[in-house]
Amino acid sequence: MDAEISSADVSGPALSGTTGGRRRALCYDKQYPLRIGIHTSIAGALDKAAHRAAELGANTFQIFSCSPRMWRAVPPDADEIRRMRDARARFDLNPLVIHDNYLINLASSDEAVREKSVAALRGELTRAAAIGAEYVVAHPGNYRGGTLEEGIVRFARSLIEAAAGVKTNGLMLLLENTAGSGAAIGASFEELAAIRELALSRADLPIGYCLDTAHCLASGYDVATAAGLREMLKAAEGALGLERVRVIHANDSKTPLSSRVDRHEHIGRGYIGVEGFRRILTHPKLRAKPFILETPIDKPGDDARNIAMLKSLCRKSRTTTK
Ligand SMILES: [Zn+2]
Ligand SMILES: [Zn+2]
Repeated sequence: MDAEISSADVSGPALSGTTGGRRRALCYDKQYPLRIGIHTSIAGALDKAAHRAAELGANTFQIFSCSPRMWRAVPPDADEIRRMRDARARFDLNPLVIHDNYLINLASSDEAVREKSVAALRGELTRAAAIGAEYVVAHPGNYRGGTLEEGIVRFARSLIEAAAGVKTNGLMLLLENTAGSGAAIGASFEELAAIRELALSRADLPIGYCLDTAHCLASGYDVATAAGLREMLKAAEGALGLERVRVIHANDSKTPLSSRVDRHEHIGRGYIGVEGFRRILTHPKLRAKPFILETPIDKPGDDARNIAMLKSLCRKSRTTTK
């Protein structure tokens, strides 16, 4: 995620017209049902995010379950949750991914911040389970004030504390790779794997991974080229296990390979480029994964254009939406 998304989330565009009457044609390849989606705003009500996603032609989506820049969160009410479930069933929106709050830093060397972060993640997991989301995506945090190893250990401990006793309802936590700026943990797959290893046996929920294409490029995995994508997949297979990579964040990158700077760009306009995304979306080891956009909305329609762009790069027969 980057900052550009969050402002759109708070003041998302109003729904244009009705969504209910527009049933999309199902052209469905059961073997590889393509899942393309986008981060959408919950402004107004939870289920509005589902309607916005369907309206944009998505069949998977991501939301914040509360304001991404506030510690306090209001639990969603039962009516809203029911409407969300109905909308997801009606528009075949699967999976639902919740991105965690930006303020959370489970690796913090400041004990007060760490404790606040544990409570906030606990809230994220509780809300996600109530909403019926499949995944919560979490950033591995920042080890400023200590060493990387200490940060990784603190993150694992915090995660175990946050999940203790929460009824997670099949929910899986996904560790997202990062661009690796400053003291951010998660620029290498080995760091993500180390957290999982440490937390797995004692955490009350399953742990997988989310790979962000822009973060891959910025942290030094050259997903823009055929050879680089092969290398990245080899590294992911070795360190993470590709079956544990449950979601791909499909973002082009405004910054070049190994820049360590996290700036998302419209698909095809950044350093990954159209051919880079065509290879990523159609790769036999990736094509069955859900691809979720977190691209900027610089002008109205950018969200729909990025979805259309991703779809145009895949074989038509594999999508479940028009
Ligand atoms: Zn993120
Ligand atoms: Zn991301």
